[in-house]
Amino acid sequence: MDVWPACLQRLESEFSQEDVLAWLKPLQAAARDGHLVLYAPNTFVRDEVQSRFLARIRELALHLGDRTDVFLDVGAPRRAESASSARASAPSATAPLDAAPFRGNVDAHYTFDNFIEGRSNQLARAAAWHAAQRPGERTHNPLLLYGGTGLGKTHLMFAAGNEMCRLNPAARVLYLRSNDFYSAFFRALQEKSADQFKRQFQKIDALLIDDIQFFAGKDRTQEEFFHTFNALFDGKQQIIMTCDRYPREVDGLEPRLKSRLGWGLAVAIDPPDFETRAQIVLSKARERGVIIPDEVAQLIAKKMRSNVRELEGAINKLTAQAGLLGRQVNMEFAQETLRDLWRAQQHAISIANIQKAVADYYGLQLKDMLDKTRTRSIARPRQMAMALAKELTEKSLPEIGGAFGGRDHTTVLHACRQIRQLMEGDSKLHEDWEKLVRKLSE
Ligand code: ADP
Ligand code: MG
Repeated sequence: MDVWPACLQRLESEFSQEDVLAWLKPLQAAARDGHLVLYAPNTFVRDEVQSRFLARIRELALHLGDRTDVFLDVGAPRRAESASSARASAPSATAPLDAAPFRGNVDAHYTFDNFIEGRSNQLARAAAWHAAQRPGERTHNPLLLYGGTGLGKTHLMFAAGNEMCRLNPAARVLYLRSNDFYSAFFRALQEKSADQFKRQFQKIDALLIDDIQFFAGKDRTQEEFFHTFNALFDGKQQIIMTCDRYPREVDGLEPRLKSRLGWGLAVAIDPPDFETRAQIVLSKARERGVIIPDEVAQLIAKKMRSNVRELEGAINKLTAQAGLLGRQVNMEFAQETLRDLWRAQQHAISIANIQKAVADYYGLQLKDMLDKTRTRSIARPRQMAMALAKELTEKSLPEIGGAFGGRDHTTVLHACRQIRQLMEGDSKLHEDWEKLVRKLSE
């Protein structure tokens, strides 16, 4: 993968379309000694890029390209330099990790400041915050953040890393995806430099390991990670990990590793509720230099519920098109621009899907959803399914009633009210709801 296209893609989502077209797109990328050289067409562009964008480009190149540095020049790539071929390489097991200031791969963009807090993530946020304030303390070491994809686990992990470095500029924080750990370790074995591989972890203050579910089934790597983990833990170095589900539910993880992971603090992160989603939309649009009205934010929050990454996709599309066409973002423009995205989403969720998912979830039969049975154990899930149908599809109350064995629209309305009311006081029911919404929106 080339570093520059990947950087550019990120920059496109962070800066306005005008900025991208005027300053970033005209740059030509080349590789020099493994680093990235960007050629500006003239000194004017170079100076502007230098003052406004270079710091961010450096961060991105460091992060995406693994210690790729960036230089600016004027003119065109020389023939000896291969145009646009600065290569991203996986972290080298033997690369020295003691370069100062040391911020191994932590993306400075993701902070607590730009993380929107809501009921679904406030525990996870608080845990990450505490780990950053007092790294290594028993109450939150190791810290494990777990939950579905695109819910902000990596964001919080980076935020903790950045906060540690802010509080203590000498802190050495190393971020590795579990796959990076795997490939670095594998390479160290081949190069017979396993000792050096181990040693590099001695010098760090915190290790951030992302997506540990990918350790599943890789026995040798797990064993090495187990030792690394123990050494860090004994040295009171902070460990933060993420996983896409509770580790006990990951098949192919060693039992002794699973049990270690639970030694400190494990916190779930759930899909954000409507209010939080709307806040995230507003904040991400602001980051991209676009003001969008509240009602548009609410519209997007209502339509896109499964994960934040998808929400971001919608915002990117909206802000990019608005910039490109020089249009204001209003309801009409949002409807028009995002129609295809929404159609794709809505196709997937039909009343039949919902009935099946709810029946499966509660271990019932599909016909229980349609029958007149009033037994609580069946009636409640049926109400849940009706309320979900109202929430997740565009169907009217009579249409929903019709699909549930020809019921009246007031029955559906009653079900919606009842479920909403019960969820206030019944956390199990609330959890069922969240899980079903997530499952259906995937
Ligand atoms: P995960 O690691 O859980 O798959 P990420 O941390 O990569 O998810 O988050 C996906 C995207 O959503 C990122 O761009 C992140 O900034 C954004 N995001 C997720 N949750 C929030 C939040 N609460 N506030 C702001 N941005 C968020
Ligand atoms: Mg992640």
